[in-house]
Amino acid sequence: MSVDFRSASLSALAYHDEFVQRHIGPDTQQTAAILASLGVASVKELIDKTVPEAIRLKGELNLGDAVTEADALAQLKAIASKNKVFKSYIGMGYHDTHVPNVVLRNVLENPGWYTAYTPYQPEIAQGRLEALLNYQQMIIDLTGMEMANASMLDEGTAAAEAMAMCKRQNKKSKSDVFFVDADTHPQTIAIVKTRAEHFGFEVVVAPIEQLEQGDYFGALLSYPGSSGQVRDLTSIIEAAHHRNALVTVASDLMALMLLKSPGAMGADVVIGTNQRFGIPMGFGGPHAGFFAFRDAYKRSAPGRIIGVSIDARGKQALRMAMQTREQHIRREKANSNICTSQVLLAVMSVFYAIYHGPEGLTRIANRIHRLTAIAASALKAKGFGIGNSQFFDTITVNAGDNQKAIYQAALNAQINLRLVASDSLGISLNETTSAADLEQLLAVFGVTGIELEALDAQVREGKNLVARNAIPAELLRSDAVLTHPVFNSYHSETEMLRYLKRLESKDIALNNAMIPLGSCTMKLNATAEMIPVTWPEFGKLHPFAPIDQAEGYKILFEQLQDMLKACTGYDAISLQPNAGSQGEYAGLVTIKKYFESKGETQRDICLIPASAHGTNPASAQMVSYKVVVVACDNKGNVDLDDLRDKIATYGDQIACIMVTYPSTHGVFEEGITQLCDMIHAIGGQVYIDGANMNALVGVAAPGKFGGDVSHLNLHKTFCIPHGGGGPGMGPIGVGKHLEPFLAAHPVQAVPGTSVENGTISAAPWGSASILPISWMYIKMMGAAGMRQATEMAIVNANYVARKLEGAYPILYKGTHGFVAHECLLDLRPLKEASGISEEDIAKRLMDFGFHAPTMSFPVAGTLMIEPTESESKVELDKFVQAMLTIRAEIDQVIKGEISADASPLHNAPHTQDDVLDENWSRAYSRDIASRPAPWLKQHKVWPSVNRIDNVYGDRNLVCSCPSIDNYME
Ligand SMILES: *Cc1c(COP(=O)(O)O)cnc(C)c1O
Repeated sequence: MSVDFRSASLSALAYHDEFVQRHIGPDTQQTAAILASLGVASVKELIDKTVPEAIRLKGELNLGDAVTEADALAQLKAIASKNKVFKSYIGMGYHDTHVPNVVLRNVLENPGWYTAYTPYQPEIAQGRLEALLNYQQMIIDLTGMEMANASMLDEGTAAAEAMAMCKRQNKKSKSDVFFVDADTHPQTIAIVKTRAEHFGFEVVVAPIEQLEQGDYFGALLSYPGSSGQVRDLTSIIEAAHHRNALVTVASDLMALMLLKSPGAMGADVVIGTNQRFGIPMGFGGPHAGFFAFRDAYKRSAPGRIIGVSIDARGKQALRMAMQTREQHIRREKANSNICTSQVLLAVMSVFYAIYHGPEGLTRIANRIHRLTAIAASALKAKGFGIGNSQFFDTITVNAGDNQKAIYQAALNAQINLRLVASDSLGISLNETTSAADLEQLLAVFGVTGIELEALDAQVREGKNLVARNAIPAELLRSDAVLTHPVFNSYHSETEMLRYLKRLESKDIALNNAMIPLGSCTMKLNATAEMIPVTWPEFGKLHPFAPIDQAEGYKILFEQLQDMLKACTGYDAISLQPNAGSQGEYAGLVTIKKYFESKGETQRDICLIPASAHGTNPASAQMVSYKVVVVACDNKGNVDLDDLRDKIATYGDQIACIMVTYPSTHGVFEEGITQLCDMIHAIGGQVYIDGANMNALVGVAAPGKFGGDVSHLNLHKTFCIPHGGGGPGMGPIGVGKHLEPFLAAHPVQAVPGTSVENGTISAAPWGSASILPISWMYIKMMGAAGMRQATEMAIVNANYVARKLEGAYPILYKGTHGFVAHECLLDLRPLKEASGISEEDIAKRLMDFGFHAPTMSFPVAGTLMIEPTESESKVELDKFVQAMLTIRAEIDQVIKGEISADASPLHNAPHTQDDVLDENWSRAYSRDIASRPAPWLKQHKVWPSVNRIDNVYGDRNLVCSCPSIDNYME
């Protein structure tokens, strides 16, 4: 809609720039050219021939008109400014922190880092892989464990995963009971209980002393405790081991700069959050959970592990270790359903550690501890009892009858304290706490007129009893940590900046080229969408701050929920799940609770089509549902005859079916309404995996065509960037009947939920601080824009399919010969004829500057391409040209002009080491090797390593930073 400026009214003459036209890649002319090549007269005709009539929405979504970038930002700023930023000393796993500015601008605000994909193609991901390896090293060092994974979704889910791993790993114990130290953060306890309930475990929450009395397969202990208490766990862990229980310790990275490590005390698993290492609190997230464990458990660990291997030249190279054995890919036999994790946040936290170095971090930890010691002794001198005699940064102060009054006095001074039981207050100090803050804090307790300087002198000179007892000598850390050169080399900002840039430049992210990943929707993450993420009004809120301080967030949540309801056709939205996998789990929990409420507990079967994403069966097993696979027919559709058979066999044992729509085969199945009807007819529920919502928004709505529940990957369809493998958000939409069973939170009440429903994530609204991204997107697109994005995603996918089908067969198409928003290229016949594999093609694409499409999912020997609406025809044509050039190279092999082994396909990717090699002896030129298309002569991202040896890396699993000598050569 363009404004005619000669006749426009005065208000329409205002600055007007349509975001929709910038979000969508092809302009009017390009679109016309694409439609011509597809042989359709209009976008509408294509959609009519692609999306089944039966499920089509009539009319526009209830989202209103599009708003310009400037107006959307102004509207959101007005909402954000309703949040009140108080000083929060609540603790409970969330602490204010200073994000180093060099990390803020060059990582968190830098598309080179935040738009990257999960490093499945390691040769063009060595930068973030190195950062993640550093992260694992940091976690290994601080926890004193042998191994660590590359991040979990948050502390609470890390604890729940630890419980599950202890159960898998503990062959000696027959017990189904898990012990939890009562002095553990309440949100962690709630998540562990929810997980245990659905696995069929029992949880005993009791004071740590009682661990010796029962028969448990595992225990979760907190060090420091939620109250702040720090105690030596060595003998407790030893006794637990004696009784065949494995022990997980929840810990705190900053405390571990000073405290003896849980590893040194015998822990089997150590978990926690990295938030206070330079990640804004963000009203709950995103942050990275950490997960460290014994070497012996490496095959059983959840999540991704980065390992060291070698490339084709024998050079050291990094990759995700044990990829094929990893997590959800093993479907119902998976260790965990976790897929997207928290790469960007893991990376930020290790950059915080690299920036400060071990000395800087020790200084920060010491300062926090010293201020806490001063606070404790000042309060004690004033007559307050301190509940914990040993502490790092947290004390529980007995305020007796004055609890409420002091709490209120604090609020009046814009200070948040933690309410503990009926008579105590918790105080946790942090990196940002200054001496002036401390004075102000003490004043609300009526502590004034105390000579803090004198007290501090006493503390420093060891004359203060409270301070002297706070960390007994035997609990002090005596080993050196973060000694690897990476933590000791980049302390000047110049060096730090260049290190960040060096790593970034090794990787291909969306700021370099399209990333045509089927199922993962790598579309534009617009700058305007990202800007609010780092506003302090969103970043500096503690998730458990009194809710009246979060008025802005409340409005944001309500508006976003309404937007998502409009997009999906569901009646209610839960914003708690932190990724698609967590949404699946949350959705299945609501289904299970719903059936419990109706007394239909015999329903324990989850039907899943053979083409499903691995997280589906992995999630089903987490609610103790048995997975029954439904076949697909030769067109790639769910085989309705097989479904009928399965229904006849299992009847009212069936709880639900999980289907992805449009299917992972890239087709709008005509049978979807019939499928939903068949399941409903026997009282079952339909879970529609919403990862492919990018093909549906504004065109069809799962809540309207038969779905009872769906998760949405906000980091796919709704523009949250992929972060190199997280953060994400996986809210779920549900029908009215499931609404009473949505996830709750034990600390911060989620409106309309009850705590018996259970808790999925550590924070009540998941990763709240990235929700503005999706809000901005929908606001700037408006109803028509959202529909147009979907239509253009389908247009672009069909264009690529049409351009490539002569060279590579398209495996599945709809009735009229069109695909949905993605397409599968069948490479099996070519592989048969030439010996060239899908991997060869994927690696060769790197030489053209492209990231490969999704490989071998959902069908082995295929590539799945999803171009998204954001790619212009210019970029699509480049990609097509690359694929056609590759096809010509395959033909040379088929014709016998070159052997597969000698071909550039087999040797790809080509590096500078290759083309600068004095003994160039390949059967093709250096230009063909490294500049096989014209645009590469102007600019090229060089893969920094040659093809990586997967087998070597798994045989010699190393998940920590290699000694610096290995980098020399
Ligand atoms: C991405 C994806 C998931 C998992 O989502 P995460 O956010 O990575 O946990 C589930 N199903 C499908 C079809 C997907 O593409």
